[in-house]
Amino acid sequence: MTNIEGKVVIIMGASSGIGEATTKKLVQEGAKLVIAARREDRLKTLVDSLPNAEISHAVADVTNKEEVQAVVDLAIKKYGRVDVFYNNAGVMPIAPLSETRFDEWRQMLDINIMGVLNGIAAVLPIMKKQQSGQIIATDSLAGHIVWPGSAVYSGTKFAVRAIMEGLRQEERENNIRSTIISPGAVDTDLYLTSKDSETQEWLKNLNDTEGMSLKPSNIADAVVYAISTPETVAVSEILIRPTKQVF
Ligand code: NDP
Repeated sequence: MTNIEGKVVIIMGASSGIGEATTKKLVQEGAKLVIAARREDRLKTLVDSLPNAEISHAVADVTNKEEVQAVVDLAIKKYGRVDVFYNNAGVMPIAPLSETRFDEWRQMLDINIMGVLNGIAAVLPIMKKQQSGQIIATDSLAGHIVWPGSAVYSGTKFAVRAIMEGLRQEERENNIRSTIISPGAVDTDLYLTSKDSETQEWLKNLNDTEGMSLKPSNIADAVVYAISTPETVAVSEILIRPTKQVF
């Protein structure tokens, strides 16, 4: 057990992949959880698989600030405080710019950037009042590099890195910690959000090739570490690649 026991943690985007794996690890560590996403059936199955956990779920679309606020309100109603807010929801419909996929560009900006801002806005007043708290976001290696096809997705992840660094600088005096977790390839269903068949195939190949992608539990371990550090230690970023990843 680490000092995570008893901490109240909210996870947005907990219905699959990294969020689901992190939920399971944090339950093992004794955290009290409120998890959210759009797919209620998956959230419910996850909660039902953790019978001895202190865990509730809520349906929320991170692009809807009232729904995000309701998740925070639920945590306050149940536990009276929020120690950690994990902005993990994201989509990656990557494709070359020349395909002009306006709807997907808008979706990435709304979910990956506005979703993170909606989370920060909902929880910050509470953490300021508490004079403690930690806000975490799943950023990406794509928040550091761009490749052909990743322009908009990378743009959203560069933006999240900037927002989270701004948050750190503005809120350090209030004892609020800001952390980004920046994975390389992770074997999840995220690749399905790309509707470009070539991109989808490339990403699926990465997932299926031994050593070319991480497991969601590898990222969950990093989240657990970031939360477990003493309040005086701010882990600003953890960047994790599969050992064999090139860039
Ligand atoms: P998944 O597709 O498995 O998980 C994405 C999660 O985000 C799901 O729980 C999904 O739930 C949720 N989500 C998506 N859109 C919304 C929305 N509008 N409102 C609420 N929840 C939403 O993929 P990952 O686990 O891989 O993705 C998690 C994060 O990790 C993302 O931010 C992604 O950008 C980042 N990442 C992933 C990498 C990878 O290689 N897999 C690499 C680097 C970063 P639901 O559909 O039920 O709403």
